[in-house]
Amino acid sequence: MDDPADILRTIFGYEQFRPPQDEVIDTLISGRDALVLMPTGGGKSLCYQIPAIARPGVGIIVSPLIALMQDQVAALTQAGVRAAYVNSSLSAEEAARVEGQMQRGELDLVYVAPERLLTERFLSKLDQTPLALFAIDEAHCVSQWGHDFRPEYIQLSLLAERYPNIPRIALTATADELTREEIVTRLQLQQARRFISSFDRPNIRYRINQRGNAREELLRFIQEQHSNASGIVYCLSRKKVEATAEWLSKQGLTALPYHAGLSSELRQHHQHRFQNEEAVIIVATIAFGMGIDKPDVRFVAHLNLPKSIEAYYQETGRAGRDGLPADAWMAYGLEDVITLRQMVEQSEANEARKRIERHKLEAMLGLCETTACRRQALLRYFDEPRDEPCGNCDTCLTPPQTHDATETARKALSCVYRTGQRFGVTYQVDILLGKSDPRIERNGHDQLQLFGAGKELNATEWRGIFRQLIALGYLQVDVGGHGSLRLAESCRPLLRGEQSLHLRVEQKPARKRRAGRAD
Ligand code: ADP
Ligand code: ZN
Repeated sequence: MDDPADILRTIFGYEQFRPPQDEVIDTLISGRDALVLMPTGGGKSLCYQIPAIARPGVGIIVSPLIALMQDQVAALTQAGVRAAYVNSSLSAEEAARVEGQMQRGELDLVYVAPERLLTERFLSKLDQTPLALFAIDEAHCVSQWGHDFRPEYIQLSLLAERYPNIPRIALTATADELTREEIVTRLQLQQARRFISSFDRPNIRYRINQRGNAREELLRFIQEQHSNASGIVYCLSRKKVEATAEWLSKQGLTALPYHAGLSSELRQHHQHRFQNEEAVIIVATIAFGMGIDKPDVRFVAHLNLPKSIEAYYQETGRAGRDGLPADAWMAYGLEDVITLRQMVEQSEANEARKRIERHKLEAMLGLCETTACRRQALLRYFDEPRDEPCGNCDTCLTPPQTHDATETARKALSCVYRTGQRFGVTYQVDILLGKSDPRIERNGHDQLQLFGAGKELNATEWRGIFRQLIALGYLQVDVGGHGSLRLAESCRPLLRGEQSLHLRVEQKPARKRRAGRAD
């Protein structure tokens, strides 16, 4: 069988190609090279799997991720495709067996890690192998400036020299303009046809709110706009997943929990109901989503801040796959920022990795705090500039009010400074509002000039100011301790009066605060 459309239907069970899959496949089948930039979940795998099946010989897939190789090979084998991988998880005999099959052309696809591929031993076997194509997955790993640089990737240029007549395809989901050019030169893909998909999902309406009473707002949002629709609600913790699902169910919705702490039968059961019934809402941790391909998810709601823009994009991207209008709705709060920072600091990752994660979280906050078009900010993050505001996000539809918050910000920063940079937000707010308690008295902070000097705002509003100062990087949270605040270097010009600060006017300021947290 060598007609791509037949392979798509009979082996993969899909009716249609998602553009530009068909064009990429034709390019490779006709023997040309391709460079494919497509967001995660866009369908990159078929771009090389189908031509590897259709063309005579073996397709060699270079991938740095062992887990991904194993998943793909398992799925392909189940679909009846002759696929295998060679990596460090195999014994020498197992590897030799796969290599033998490869040399005899008895496989359609062989997945291999770059360091293995580049050994002279493996290359000499490839010399004897009938080859269909080379696919280089995660091609951005070739970029020295990227987060995922892998030195072996640079040597993959030898594929072009050693096998000049075999078509090559490089694929990635993350490549700004610079990385793109680096991929082309380093992998010698100057002749490759380029397929660059936009990251834009125009049918998704982005909305990001600061948390008031998040649950009630979520309920209102669902009832008013998606009363009979399927949706996903993401929460950060299992506990909150359980509580939210239970609460939504009590309000008469079909809401099912999904997280890694549930038995796999229950998870499968809930996933099955979500896929097959109407108007089922899955309340989940990020454990939910991989392999979900439900086209008519009408909304994705976040009750906590995602840890990065990539995560936000990927999770919200599960809405509206059918191209019909869909919503990405989020309510976040200060607690999220602190929790996520704690997670970064307490992780096993090395310092460099942590720096990147901190930076990603800051960028996510930047997206939340922006007073400009969300979509523009989102696409800018993926290096896809867009001239006009989109008209389909909250800031476009209801431009946020801004106000000059320079004086207020200075007061907040001074309070942090005067109290010795040892206390958290609640303490600062109490000082500004002149609310004394034994601890404040013991520290003598009721004697500060600032004590009670911030009564023009209420507690909720002050918390908002602190959140924005944290988000903008003027204040740092000591996540190792109890969330105490410190001044960042960058707040100096602001304190000296050389810089002014415009902030969002909260959409719902000074609402009556409920006792305790909404979550
Ligand atoms: P990527 O590698 O770009 O992240 P995948 O290749 O893993 O994306 O594909 C993402 C999902 O989309 C998979 O579940 C896949 O089966 C599905 N998919 C890919 N192409 C099609 C298609 N033409 N029709 C329907 N589903 C598809
Ligand atoms: Zn917009």
